[in-house]
Amino acid sequence: MKPIYKRIVLKLSGEALSGGKGHGLDDDTINNICSAIKEIKKTGVEIAIVVGGGNFWRGKTSTLMDRSTSDNMGMLGTVINALRLQASLEEMGVDTRVQTAIQMQEIAEPYIRRRAIRHLEKGRIVIFAAGTGLPYFSTDTTAALRACEIDSDVILIGKRGVDGVYNKDPNKYSDAIKFDKLTHYEVLTKGLEIMDSTAASLCRDNEIDLVVFGLDDPLNLIRIFEGEEIGTVIK
Ligand code: UDP
Repeated sequence: MKPIYKRIVLKLSGEALSGGKGHGLDDDTINNICSAIKEIKKTGVEIAIVVGGGNFWRGKTSTLMDRSTSDNMGMLGTVINALRLQASLEEMGVDTRVQTAIQMQEIAEPYIRRRAIRHLEKGRIVIFAAGTGLPYFSTDTTAALRACEIDSDVILIGKRGVDGVYNKDPNKYSDAIKFDKLTHYEVLTKGLEIMDSTAASLCRDNEIDLVVFGLDDPLNLIRIFEGEEIGTVIK
């Protein structure tokens, strides 16, 4: 495997950790993803992970409470996922730190940019939890924001149920066409739903490269580092 990137942000949706169930955590799935992460770590790449929380709670989905409360619940879901990932990676002998955007110092470090960078330089994987710490945002926006802040080369977006970006949902339309390459401008103008528009604009404005790939097979992560052109590259 080649050291094709120096520093990456890996965005894992909460659903990716649920192993097809869509809800909760699936141990085998998590271990497979963590094994792949351990493998790419060997190239010397510095890895920050932004984890979602949709396998527990999505702020927008509830009509029973105000959006801010609902979003706060969603951010707490990401912390559960971060701790679960940390447990698996540490079990495999990989050094990690969890940093949360909402302070909970008994269980994780607060997010401090310079400290996060220091951890990365020392070879630790940093897992960013609790999103941006603010309601009305998403963990995709968090990934874009953290990628800017830590000067990441790229965001690798692992998707469940799809292996890249298509012109329409490939699970619904058999004639859907996959894009190998796209520009940020095309993503926004074609209305491709890779990430929410706040996250997409942040990536475009700050020229952050994205690779959208299928995480149903976690070996795809390794394939990217072996130089295989899989998924969709957005520049
Ligand atoms: N969330 C938030 N602010 C953030 C990030 C996340 O309020 O900066 C909340 C929001 O309710 C969101 C939930 O956390 O629905 C879970 O995050 P997301 O939906 O991005 O997770 P994913 O779809 O990647 O699993």
